[in-house]
Amino acid sequence: MKEPETGKKEKTGKSGYSITTWRLHLWCRHPEWLRTTQEFYNRIAEFYYNLLLDHTDLWEMRSQQTLRELEIMSIPGRGGRIPSNPLPWQKVPLYFRRAAANEGIASAKSYLSRFAQDEKIGRAEKLNAAVTYYKGMYQEFSAKEITLRVWTGATWTWMHCRLSGRDFPENARLMSPSVVFEYKYDMLHVPVRQNNENTATVRQRMQAGCRILCIQFTNSDAFAAGVVLDGTGQEIAVKFWKGGKEYSHHCRKLLEKIQKSQEATGGRQTGRVDQKYWMHLKHLSEHYGHQVTSQILRFAVEQDVSVIVLPRYNQEYSRNVMKGSGNWGPLHLSTRIRQYLDYKAWKNGIIVIEVHATGISANCARCGAEIIRTDTRTELCCCANGHQTNRYLNAVRNLGKKCLTQFGRGA
Ligand SMILES: [Zn+2]
Repeated sequence: MKEPETGKKEKTGKSGYSITTWRLHLWCRHPEWLRTTQEFYNRIAEFYYNLLLDHTDLWEMRSQQTLRELEIMSIPGRGGRIPSNPLPWQKVPLYFRRAAANEGIASAKSYLSRFAQDEKIGRAEKLNAAVTYYKGMYQEFSAKEITLRVWTGATWTWMHCRLSGRDFPENARLMSPSVVFEYKYDMLHVPVRQNNENTATVRQRMQAGCRILCIQFTNSDAFAAGVVLDGTGQEIAVKFWKGGKEYSHHCRKLLEKIQKSQEATGGRQTGRVDQKYWMHLKHLSEHYGHQVTSQILRFAVEQDVSVIVLPRYNQEYSRNVMKGSGNWGPLHLSTRIRQYLDYKAWKNGIIVIEVHATGISANCARCGAEIIRTDTRTELCCCANGHQTNRYLNAVRNLGKKCLTQFGRGA
């Protein structure tokens, strides 16, 4: 059997393909088995996490080699090899164990690199990763269903699950899926690998001097700020898509209701009432997500835009920003808008690309001087030469400049 794909490879840029994560709702008869499986998975991951951290001689190896060495130490081998640190569980399916071991290795490596920066950081007591189901752990997989091999707490069994969400794109390769618990929903995350013929097309369009629309997502009353640039880098139009306050207000109302209902039942409320509010919340965010996406697209079409440019952040940064801005704020909706936009823009003949956002808020888009003051109330920023601009507009203009430079079209 071929080595399973871990689905951990992230952005691939120019190499001709991209990986996007499809999020599908998952429904099954025994959701608790998904949890016992995850529990078990993390115990194994912790075992390998600690095993690796206890063996400094393995730290410099590549992950694949590390896995091999850890297996020799923990699993009885051919010819009666006795492991020095036997895995304390019997009859764990091979690909389940491997996925968990890879999780443990990744966590250990990330711990080691953080430890190198700050020696006060302690080891993780517990891991809490989503289970990645390697080949052999799932079957009958489509956008409508999947059958997963799960641990009931007593035995391994196959469990059929229904899936709902949008269809996978044609000619895409599906990588190992994970089961992720989001709020009250069980989700299946599927990394989808697509060949990216777009790379050439984007370059062509850019060099032909197409109009671009650059977007910056915000956590203010505007969900997003946008600026349209023409073939020479001239600014054609500016736009803010508003409604963020209204959205947070509606979300807050629902969250209050959920809290009240939980207080009334001492936090044990898992029944219909709660479910109803969570569904409301989800619909609300879907509704706003679609609405803002459509508005952005309508504007793009009106302005004859053929490439939409979104800011790309590294994962850690976006996680922190998302956390800081709250789960149901306008900025949180950007994840949804990105997903919708990518899909809907394509249908309109518009391509969506991402440009690294590093540094776009640091300088003045007009003169390049350093930004020395940002007023979070008025959202105005001011540069060393006294230019005052809306901070998001300033950032999105810089994003546009960056994009044009990247494609060899200096502004
Ligand atoms: Zn300036």
